[in-house]
This record gives sequence, C-alpha cells and structure tokens, in this order.
Amino acid sequence: MPNTLGDNHVPGLAFETLALHGTRANADKTGSLTTPIYQSATFAHLGVGRSTGYDYSRLQNPTRQALEETVATLEGGYDAIAFTTGMAAMACLMELFEPGDHLVASDDLYGGSVRLFRAVSGKNGIGVTYADTSDLEAVRDAIQPNTKAVFVETPTNPMMIVSDVAALGGLCGSRGCLLVVDNTFLTPYLMRPLGLGADIVLHSGTKYLGGHNDVLAGFLVTGSAELSERLRYLYKTTGACIGPMDAYLALRGIKTLPVRMERQQGNAGEIARWLKEQTLRDGALVTGVYYPGLEDHPGIEVSRKQAAGFGAMISFELRDEALAHGVLERVRVIQFAESLGGIESLVTYPTMQTHADVPAEVKEARGITNRLLRLSVGIENVRDLIADLEQALYGEARH
Ligand SMILES: *Cc1c(COP(=O)(O)O)cnc(C)c1O
Repeated sequence: MPNTLGDNHVPGLAFETLALHGTRANADKTGSLTTPIYQSATFAHLGVGRSTGYDYSRLQNPTRQALEETVATLEGGYDAIAFTTGMAAMACLMELFEPGDHLVASDDLYGGSVRLFRAVSGKNGIGVTYADTSDLEAVRDAIQPNTKAVFVETPTNPMMIVSDVAALGGLCGSRGCLLVVDNTFLTPYLMRPLGLGADIVLHSGTKYLGGHNDVLAGFLVTGSAELSERLRYLYKTTGACIGPMDAYLALRGIKTLPVRMERQQGNAGEIARWLKEQTLRDGALVTGVYYPGLEDHPGIEVSRKQAAGFGAMISFELRDEALAHGVLERVRVIQFAESLGGIESLVTYPTMQTHADVPAEVKEARGITNRLLRLSVGIENVRDLIADLEQALYGEARH
C-alpha cells in the first residue's frame, strides 16, 4: 500500500511550511506537536480480517509512515520508502534488475555505490558501464539494448560534475530505461528530479535530510504507482526498514532543512570564492576549486536551469600531498571526518575515505588525487570557517 497524504494535509503550502508541519497524517488526540515514536514491532488486530492498517512494523509503522509521507511530499513523489541507510535503499533498488540487465552510471560517484555495483551487482549478473553523464552523447553511446536504468549523481561526489536531469530524462524515456537520480547533495529543497523527468530519486537521509550527524537513513522516492508497488514488495521482502526512533530523528531533522540549507550554501558560496582567491596568489597553495556556483564551473548554467541553488559541498585541490595531510591535521573548527550534509563542517579525504575502494588508476583519471579534499560546509559563522582554513593552510589566520 503506498502512502497517501493524511486528511490534515493542506494543499498549496510552501516547501518550508511542509517541511515543518509534514503531513500531520498521524496527529493524535493529545495534540502532540511531534510525531510519536511508535516503538512497537507488531500491532493487535481488531478481529479476523480486521486490521488497524498496521500489522507488523516491517510492513507499516506510523512513525515511519509520517516520515515517508513528508519526504514524498517534499520531492513531489507518489511514494517514498524509508530505509536504514542510503546503501540499503540502493541495494533494494538493484533488486529491480535481473541477471543480464545493464546500467549506465555517472563515472564520478559515491564510493559506496561503486563498491555495490562491483562487489554485489557484478556477482548478480548486472553489468554497469560508467559514463560522463554531463555529456548526453556519452550516455547515448553507453546505452545498450539491455540497459534498464541510468543512474546519476548531480553534482557528483567529489568532483561536482553537473548533469542535465531533464535532458537525461528525455533520453531515458526514448530508450525505455529508468532514470534514477541520487539527490543526496541538493535535496528536494534545491532540486526535485521527479519533476524534471527522473523515475526514482535516491537519498542518503544520513546527510542533509537528517542534517545533524545523529542518524542513518535512506530513501527511494518514486513517481508512479507501478514503481512504488514493485519497490514496496522488495522492501517488505528484504527488510531494511528504518526503525521508529531513527524515523523520528530524520523527521525532526527535515523540519529545519530549508533554513539549514540556506545557511550552509550561503557559507559555501563565500568559502568557495575565498578558496578561488587563494588559487590566484603567487606560489598558490590551493590549486583548484570545484563548486558548481563558481562562474567558471562548466555546470553553472545547467545548475541554474534545474536547481534553486548550488548546495554546500566544495572540493579543492592543494599543491601537494603533504599539505593536504597538514590541512586535515590542523583544522580546528572544521572536523576531519567522513560524511556530509550536517550542521557541523566536515572535511574529508576522498582518496582514503569515501573512495578508498575505487581503483587507483580510476581515481587518478577522475582527479581524485591525494591532493584533493572535500568540504561539507556547516552552519557555523563563516568567518570562523575561513579563519580555520587560513590557519590550516598558512599557519596563521590573517584577521
Ligand atoms: C552517503 C551517501 C550515500 C550512502 O548513504 P548511507 O546513508 O551512508 O548508506 C549514497 N550516496 C551519496 C551521494 C552519499 O553521499
């Protein structure tokens, strides 16, 4: 059964209002402003063949349902399914395919997705061809008669390459394959891929949706009843269902998604411009900056067309490996940790962390060198963040 909007849903509300109030589908008699945590594995039946609508929490749970309805509403989807993690969502997605099927995927992708394709999908007989999905011709060439889906991240992780979702949607439609977009980096606040022609949206809810580095979550959002039914069947069969407490935390995080995103991307824009200035200095220590909002980024026009902002992820390249290690060890406000999207700024070393399992020659070819750092910009005061980067780079802050 797909989720349907609750009776109290008010049509026509703005995103910020919907993120905060959700669908209020499960508002109870007490007037509780927050969704209760239904920490129950099972539900009593009213009689033979008479269910309350809740039978067993792998199938339905009221807290999870409130979360799913909220995410479906924000993405403009027919249904959203909430998983324990982003990778669990991805693994369930792959169950749509059969041995002999083929996928085309962005050639710059979250390392965990690459590992899943190689270590699990490969053994299951599903082939994956990597292509530069910012180049429509390259995708067209990579699609084969047995291609069942094109899987894109935009902007990509970590090189921030932007793909044109509407153009890819058109191509996939004409070739009879699904377009799946990993929308973790932009979130529905900045981009809604289903409205641009995608069939399925994937999220690591651990990142911006949860937003506080305190919960793991994942989502598959579908645009049609048919896909929703197939995925819900796989979901209840494979069982990676988010628990009630984690569903509650994700739901609480989503309430502030719009304000967090505004602040994070405002900070990111300033930091990206500051880093860019550092590349222009004599003997520059910063040698490259990748952020879709910089005027010389090749994806800026496509970003403007399809998204309401550029997000809060920046990758930058340093002069040498020793400096990259030094910056990771010297940052004080920014923390050297994996993950992204939360309110705390984090710096990551893709070659050793998120992309450790990607073969060395592949990483090198894509620019994921031992000099590349990835920054997830948080909500701190931006002057503190810039001063922290300054002292980590130059040994002292200049202001
Ligand atoms: C983190 C991440 C994932 C995996 O999500 P988990 O919640 O860590 O399992 C997938 N895609 C992207 C873009 C991510 O950043």
